[in-house]
Amino acid sequence: MVGVEAFTDWVEFETWPAPGCPTCGAGFLSGEDKLDKVETARSVSWRKEEAWEPDWIHGVLSGHLTCNNERCGEFVVVGGTWCVGDSRDPYQQYAERLTLRFFHPPLQFIRIPEKTPDETARAIRDASSLLLANPSAAANRLRQGIEALLTAKKVKRFTIATRRNGSTFRDRLTLHARIEILRKSEKDVADLLEAVKWIGNDGSHESGLTAREVLVGARIMEAALYRLFESRDPEMERIVRKIIKNKGIRKRT
Ligand SMILES: [Zn+2]
Repeated sequence: MVGVEAFTDWVEFETWPAPGCPTCGAGFLSGEDKLDKVETARSVSWRKEEAWEPDWIHGVLSGHLTCNNERCGEFVVVGGTWCVGDSRDPYQQYAERLTLRFFHPPLQFIRIPEKTPDETARAIRDASSLLLANPSAAANRLRQGIEALLTAKKVKRFTIATRRNGSTFRDRLTLHARIEILRKSEKDVADLLEAVKWIGNDGSHESGLTAREVLVGARIMEAALYRLFESRDPEMERIVRKIIKNKGIRKRT
């Protein structure tokens, strides 16, 4: 199913990447040809310029897409911008490029295992709404999701620090320090979370992050959540231990 990843860059009408419906997960969304597309006032005024070229045209778009699954029929509100630029089609000079910055309900982002702590799941859902509109804000929300995950995993948030005069105070641990604590028991998961943390750090820098970069972080976070909450099957692990102990599925006599 096509998810939000198809919209981290501009798309064309000719090769519309029909996204999967976020509500039913079975149908796909279309109706892109009926979106309301208007030129900005500046784009209209530029048309009077002598040097004007078609690729000066730009504007905003809004409207809704509809799920083609008859039993669902969900409407998804969208908003964004468009412009005329070089086509990806080698036989065509210009194409209308659509940059979608908003989908509601948001398109499929990452899967959240059922046992994920509520606060982490909420942070991921927020990040999915923010991803195209403000990737750095989405990265920041993912970071908060990691903090909540560590709290749920009982990793301490504070340490007792000592001032120069000898008195002590509660000092908040950095995210990095907390991941290091988790590393003692969950090395692989700590590696994954550390990578997401580094991506989040990039988001607080001036240039910000692209939606595609944040999506990489989200995918890594998904892997961490699956490792913690999904791939663990205590019953299966018990069977595995038994097979290893018996050196076979049947008990040796
Ligand atoms: Zn649907």
